[in-house]
Amino acid sequence: MRLWIKDPLAILAPDADRGIVVDGSKIVECVPRGLTPAQPWEATFDASRHVVLPGLINAHHHFYQTLTRAHPAGFGQELLPWLAAMERVWDRMTPDALRIAVRLALVELLLSGCTTAADHHNIFPPELGRAIDIEVEEATKLGMRMTVTRGSMGISEKDGGLQPDSIVQDSDSILEDSERVLKRFHDRKPGAMIRIALAPCSPLAVPQRVMKESAKLAERHDARLHCHLCQSVDEDAYAMQAFGKRSVDLLEESGWLASRSWVAHGVHFNDDEIIRLGLAGVGVAHCAAADMAFGVGVCPARELEAAGVAIGLGVDGSASNDSSNMIEAARHALMLQRMRYGHAAFSPYDALRWATEGSARCLGRDDIGFIAPGFEADLALYKLDEPRFSGAQDPIAALVLCGAHRADRVIVAGRWRVVDGMPENVDLDALIARHKAAARAFG
Ligand SMILES: [Zn+2]
Repeated sequence: MRLWIKDPLAILAPDADRGIVVDGSKIVECVPRGLTPAQPWEATFDASRHVVLPGLINAHHHFYQTLTRAHPAGFGQELLPWLAAMERVWDRMTPDALRIAVRLALVELLLSGCTTAADHHNIFPPELGRAIDIEVEEATKLGMRMTVTRGSMGISEKDGGLQPDSIVQDSDSILEDSERVLKRFHDRKPGAMIRIALAPCSPLAVPQRVMKESAKLAERHDARLHCHLCQSVDEDAYAMQAFGKRSVDLLEESGWLASRSWVAHGVHFNDDEIIRLGLAGVGVAHCAAADMAFGVGVCPARELEAAGVAIGLGVDGSASNDSSNMIEAARHALMLQRMRYGHAAFSPYDALRWATEGSARCLGRDDIGFIAPGFEADLALYKLDEPRFSGAQDPIAALVLCGAHRADRVIVAGRWRVVDGMPENVDLDALIARHKAAARAFG
């Protein structure tokens, strides 16, 4: 059915003043000023009160952490001790708890205008062997697009590492399950709803064999590679102490300085590393809220972009952000970058570009993140009828500058997933009640 999303209040797309036409899962036409669609249409949606954006794309997260937001175990701690404390809470995760955490995180993201999410699931207590399957099932049920990253940690306290023994796996188990989920779920086709990426927690958290073999597996299956990289100076110090090298050097030695890799945070690179990352085509998921929460520094977005690095945005773990809101992430990123570079360096349009095209590049996708014929029909529609928007002159910039936090309508692959601010086919009150009940086990 051809649907004309007609006469938007504003739309982030070239030559689409009169809206766009969606057919099946795709955008088939942009309608310029003064015209009507070239082909007949069967339905019309009046978008005259909506600002239309490409669906936002979350390039880094840890869904399971929704169960441990604002958790006192982490209060007053710097990043590494916070992680150590929280990992001793997360190791209670069960398949049922993970399922409800994933469902809540996906709905929370969707309501903010997010249509594609990457989740970095990196804890594997013994019961959670099918964690990736759970994420795929929940995203499919909800009709959201995902890159599910098969995370891993392999160096625990007994080997001199930072992680508790209870959440790590041996190298063979990690690699076997990585191959299993690639074979079972990874869809390389354009328009894919589910893709798998391989994601050791960081080059410091697994034996180098896991990094190297993951790179080979990813190449064989044409999949992406993802990890945390250079978030804090403590991490730098640990890399030198434990490995005698910097994290970027470890990445390079493992075959990860490649265009199929994107990394989370990327705060502490030296000039030479930025050039090397750009030449290799590595992407960076800028996680502004989490970086602010831990006071670790500011991702050098200007130098990274100048070097050719794609900048995407991630809300990061819900226990460090502590929310999962993608349109808020654009505001956080803009404000934080202006702290480093000044007011003129980046505009609200840059922040939205990072949250859409930039994140799409991080995930290796050229079929989402932009409104144009041939792209997937993933769209976020916002109303500007709250007091915070009243008086705004530029409706698109207003979403970022005035602090939009909830989409009124969301389309994923041509299907309405949010209508009048509510998720389709989800009992939101019941979901929150179940999620709160599940969270009690982590108190
Ligand atoms: Zn993270």
